[in-house]
Amino acid sequence: MKNVDLLIVGGSAAGFSAAITARRHYPDATVAVIRQETKTPVPCGIPYIFGTLGSTQKNLMPDPALAKNSAELIVDRVTGIDREAKTVSTEGGQTIGYEKLILTTGSEPVVPPIPGVDRDNVFPIKKDVGYLDHLLETLKDAQDVVIIGGGFIGLEMADECRKLNGLNVSIVEMLPHCLLAVFDQELCIRAEEALESKGIRVLTSRTAKSIQGNGKVEYVELDNGERLKADAVILGIGARPNAELAKQAGLSIGSTGGVEVDRHMMTSDPDIFAAGDCAEKVCFFTGKPSRALLASVATAEARIAGANLFEMRRASKGSISVFSTKIGDLACGLAGIGEKTARDAGIAYMVGEAEAVDRHPGSLPGAKPTRVKLIFRKYSETLIGGEACGGDEVGEMVNLIAALIQAEMTADEIATFQMGTHPLLTASPVAYQLVNAAEMALAKMR
Ligand SMILES: Cc1cc2nc3c(=O)[nH]c(=O)nc-3n(C[C@H](O)[C@H](O)[C@H](O)COP(=O)(O)OP(=O)(O)OC[C@H]3O[C@@H](n4cnc5c(N)ncnc54)[C@H](O)[C@@H]3O)c2cc1C
Repeated sequence: MKNVDLLIVGGSAAGFSAAITARRHYPDATVAVIRQETKTPVPCGIPYIFGTLGSTQKNLMPDPALAKNSAELIVDRVTGIDREAKTVSTEGGQTIGYEKLILTTGSEPVVPPIPGVDRDNVFPIKKDVGYLDHLLETLKDAQDVVIIGGGFIGLEMADECRKLNGLNVSIVEMLPHCLLAVFDQELCIRAEEALESKGIRVLTSRTAKSIQGNGKVEYVELDNGERLKADAVILGIGARPNAELAKQAGLSIGSTGGVEVDRHMMTSDPDIFAAGDCAEKVCFFTGKPSRALLASVATAEARIAGANLFEMRRASKGSISVFSTKIGDLACGLAGIGEKTARDAGIAYMVGEAEAVDRHPGSLPGAKPTRVKLIFRKYSETLIGGEACGGDEVGEMVNLIAALIQAEMTADEIATFQMGTHPLLTASPVAYQLVNAAEMALAKMR
């Protein structure tokens, strides 16, 4: 029987981060990662397979990084955990002993109960290379594609499908706007305009009633009776934790279906940790369970679990939820909570907004307007959220907002913080959006 100090079940974003972190913190430990597939896609890169990359082979997790960190990769499916014996058993007939176990078994796409959802050519987005190859081949032969769900995954898939042979793409979203579960309305409208400018049809406040066809999908019927022709349907509804293995092993499961963990990412068994999409999340702001499943959160949790194996070295403050995406030429993102979430949670807040071009002077080639909106607690004046949209630097600007939130910086501290600026790289120091948005909020608060 094989024995290792640390066994990690799952070899995607969280599994990789846990293995690399464990190696850094416990250099003498034997580490193995067990994963059910030979190759696994970079999860966030999946939409870009269909237009920009053109192949699943250009979007694979870099397995050599495991060997470089002296972590063995075992390809097999774990079918059971014996917590008494501290072993796992696998489909391939192996029994592997562990000192510590980290579960990073991830998530599965939600498949809504729409009549006809099991017809051929209806695709929830699975993180599986063979399955994604089949989806790519299907899309290459298609003319009309319907995407059900106007969240990040649906929008990114729509944008990329449009790049593939100019497919006719429609998005069906039940809420009044795409991305409304995350962004405030004005940003959702800008994202929809960006999609429409690419020739994508956006149908909001509409639900898919049924998926019709003879074996294979032929059209999607909407609640208003309209029929959308479809050679393929893509489901972008969301994901749910894959906690089956943990459940079978008798570990506690949280209210959102994830493996229950404490702030050290320890499960109800002190020798088993869980991290990533399979683990229950707690919101940084409300302390309540959070359903946002993101690679950024998954890897942060894995870096906590990997460091805590043999003594508690790190603790999670909860999930900030940092989202970013790019639709057409428009980059947009959010860190923390938006106005609607703050309102719904009963948080007294104040907003400040600022817009400036991302070069200075604005006459420089490539200058794009970038808008920032910051949300502060009204009384403590600490930052709790921020949205940005505009040019590509929005990705890192949202990360900076996330850092300011975690450091609990106040509007006054942000209005006076020292940033680096350069004509070709940033907005002018006079017009720097974060500083000016904080000043605008302060003006309202005082
Ligand atoms: C299309 C798409 C785009 C996304 N874009 C973004 C983005 O831009 N930014 C962002 O932050 N997040 C994004 N996400 C979310 C992100 O992909 C997930 O949060 C991330 O993949 C979670 O990583 P994980 O390692 O926890 O789980 P997963 O990536 O789900 O990996 C789980 C691993 O466990 C393995 N496994 C499961 N059960 C077993 C078993 N019994 N035995 C052996 N192996 C097992 C699986 O095979 C897999 O290797 C996106 C998701 C999708 C689907």
